[in-house]
Amino acid sequence: MYVPLLVSDFLERAVKLYGDKPAILDDTCIRTYSEVGERANQLSNGLASLGVTKGDKVAYLAPNTPEMLEGFYGVAQIGAVMTPLNTRLKPFDYQFILEHSESKVLFVDYTLLRQVEEILPHLPDLQHVIVHGEREVGYEPYEEWLQQFPRECMMEPELDEQDIASLLYTSGTTGDPKGVLLSHRSNYLHALSAMHHLRVSDQDVLLHVLPMFHVNGWGSPYYYTANGASQVMLRQTDPDLILDKIEQYGVTVVHMAPTVLNMVLEAFERKERTITQQVRVVIAGSAPPPAFVRRVEEELGWTFIQVYGMTEISPLITISEPRSVDILKSNEERYVLKAKTGYDLIGTRVKVVDELGEEVPCDGNTVGEIITRTNHVMEGYYKNKEATQSTIQHGWLHTGDMATVDEKGYIEIVDRKKDVIISGGENISSIEVEGVLYDHPAILEAAVIAVPHEKWGESPHAVIVLRSGEALTEMELITFCRERLAHFKVPKGITFMNELPKTASGKIQKVLLRKSFWQDHERHVN
Ligand code: ATP
Ligand code: MG
Repeated sequence: MYVPLLVSDFLERAVKLYGDKPAILDDTCIRTYSEVGERANQLSNGLASLGVTKGDKVAYLAPNTPEMLEGFYGVAQIGAVMTPLNTRLKPFDYQFILEHSESKVLFVDYTLLRQVEEILPHLPDLQHVIVHGEREVGYEPYEEWLQQFPRECMMEPELDEQDIASLLYTSGTTGDPKGVLLSHRSNYLHALSAMHHLRVSDQDVLLHVLPMFHVNGWGSPYYYTANGASQVMLRQTDPDLILDKIEQYGVTVVHMAPTVLNMVLEAFERKERTITQQVRVVIAGSAPPPAFVRRVEEELGWTFIQVYGMTEISPLITISEPRSVDILKSNEERYVLKAKTGYDLIGTRVKVVDELGEEVPCDGNTVGEIITRTNHVMEGYYKNKEATQSTIQHGWLHTGDMATVDEKGYIEIVDRKKDVIISGGENISSIEVEGVLYDHPAILEAAVIAVPHEKWGESPHAVIVLRSGEALTEMELITFCRERLAHFKVPKGITFMNELPKTASGKIQKVLLRKSFWQDHERHVN
């Protein structure tokens, strides 16, 4: 008989091995692993007292807080399904997700209560709302509610590793968010693989920059807990705050989106501050790595690891390990490698295939779609059989991401299928053009999108945010691109903006940027 792989094992193990170690380092509290274990048990008992049983959805609307971390375990331990909500949505979206997920209980941080208050009366499945943090009139306060319950878990539900542990909604970068069902087994095997590749140890201090409600931040509370690392909570993605926390708590590992890393680098350069804390590694994923990666190592002295993943995979698919770069000779070659997202994780197979499903040659040049087969794939999209069937075919998940693969097997993402610009029959990678734009010293952020073109069908258009105090004309920028790009890849127009629309995890929403250009036209993919 096998031992079922249940995510609650991770905290149980940490309590046994690292009970007295600080699990949580936060401005509001410091908690050991034993304390977190006890509070997670109290939460399980509390949920059971509310009638929550196996399979029930328990929603969380919170930034990265100690309460959110204990939710990962308190909910899973009784077989309920952790359903975290993105903190940047609109009331209408919350209504959609809470209804769609049929959440029975909602834990909400007091800072976010106003965002959902108006929709709460319209949710027939939602039976309890409990508020984290400050007291709010008319709502159950979390801390007092929690303290009524015993510190030992009183439940022992029959759980199997195939049971669902989490329901996560995708970023909604390309359209409506989809609900992804992940089993205990998938979360568990993903955590084992990630902790191996990232060399997580009890010496680590992780700064939770990526929101835990998002799948990128999602996996980390499992694998850092399992290894007894300390975890620092960060409620807002403020670059100065990130640098302060790194110093204050002796942070060794940070995961963040490239856009946030860019802001941190900016803050570091602006203040001309020194940083004494040696961050072992910064892990960036969720979007392509821009050209500034080189500066992260040179100026901050942090080792950069590039990962690629998606909600449907729990999330990691590929990783560029530092170990893999040691074997390369020249510095230049190192950076080339790091721009690639690396190779498949243990327990994951990746192929890049053409439209007929044939693998493309490993020449670092031929573009195909990434498909993957892994031990930690989703069970499916919640209540969306059709989307599940079109995404997972014959056991392989179709990512919708386009890439090349080189002779060593390293994957380089070229673009999302939906973001590729098809101009006069030529495919233009928006990422490649953005890479050139990021080389311009006046540019802080860049997004290249397809806009309708009478003759070519589509043409590339750049949307730019300048660094403060910088000025640049459309013509100057187009000339800059002409010197560095094939003619057809040069943006035909430029829009300057103060900021770009982003998802809560910091991804640029090109779908929104494209919208106004395509109002009167049909696009091949939206
Ligand atoms: P939605 O599916 O709702 O449109 P989304 O795809 O952004 O949103 P996520 O699951 O959060 O939702 O993100 C996964 C996607 O992020 C991948 O399919 C890929 O396009 C992109 N991505 C992740 N990591 C990288 C990376 N290292 N380089 C380039 N793109 C990446
Ligand atoms: Mg997606």
